[in-house]
Amino acid sequence: MMGTIVCQTCNSTIEHFENEKVHVLYSKCDGCHSGQSDEE
Ligand SMILES: [Zn+2]
Repeated sequence: MMGTIVCQTCNSTIEHFENEKVHVLYSKCDGCHSGQSDEE
C-alpha cells in the first residue's frame, strides 16, 4: 500500500512511501522546514 508524506504547512506532497497502516503522514517540506510556520 502506498502512503504519502504531505507538508502540513503548504500542503504539498513531499514524497511517497510504502506502509501497510498509514496512508498519510504530515511533515514539513524543505522550504517550510527552514522558514517560519506563521504563513496562513
Ligand atoms: Zn511546505
